[in-house]
Amino acid sequence: MLKKGIKPLTKLGAKFFDKEDIKNMNIIMLGAPGTGKGTIAGILEKKLKIPQVSTGDIFRKHMKEGTELGKLAESYISKGALVPDDVTIGLVEDRLKEKDVQSGIILDGFPRTVKQAEELDKMLESENKKVDIVINLTTPEEEIIERIVNRRVCSNQECKTIFNLQLNPPKQEGICDKCGSELVQRKDDTVETVKSRLNSYFEQTSPLVEYYEKKGKLYSAVVSKSINKLGKDVAEDVVKYIEENF
Ligand code: AMP
Repeated sequence: MLKKGIKPLTKLGAKFFDKEDIKNMNIIMLGAPGTGKGTIAGILEKKLKIPQVSTGDIFRKHMKEGTELGKLAESYISKGALVPDDVTIGLVEDRLKEKDVQSGIILDGFPRTVKQAEELDKMLESENKKVDIVINLTTPEEEIIERIVNRRVCSNQECKTIFNLQLNPPKQEGICDKCGSELVQRKDDTVETVKSRLNSYFEQTSPLVEYYEKKGKLYSAVVSKSINKLGKDVAEDVVKYIEENF
């Protein structure tokens, strides 16, 4: 369920969405690691036809290609720490100039610090744009670790579908249902790294909940098996909410 503000909503209505409006939306996915940002952003991308941009995916691509940026990012990511602001902000600044995101973007994993959020506001303002909606995902902490260690991702960069061995297993072990490529486990999806990633979230990223709440942009949803709400269910709620309110 999705609700404006910090407390999650219990009731939602539905309406046809105006495609023109949707296309011009800038959406931010906020939430601790393992809450389903990537899964939901992937579904929204298809349904709303707005490109998903994940800073984590960009870093992983550079790591795979062994670029200087990739080596630098890996030294932080492998420890569960955030990549420094100047590097990450510069990366997003360049990405925002590309043609495909001129009429809308779903930012998945950015911003992760108040500094990043402030710089994003400036970047968008300079183009007469703004953040339209921030989807704040929460999952009980005990479920997060379980979700992360069971996460498997499609190794095909064009597909990147996310599975969970317990909650959303692939039909054939180790193989992506969608494209048939090999499924892999992210190097930072280990119990040890998850704890540092959660610390980074609580110390550096969670202040963004208040940042966007004060601006009236925050919409919260709980992703938890305890209430039968997985990423795909929340994605449906988000689409419905956008249809009705934007
Ligand atoms: P994700 O795929 O979003 O879980 O990101 C994986 C890792 O990449 C994070 O744990 C961070 O180390 C790094 N990262 C991704 N996005 C950012 C960001 N906006 N700021 C700093 N580090 C980031």
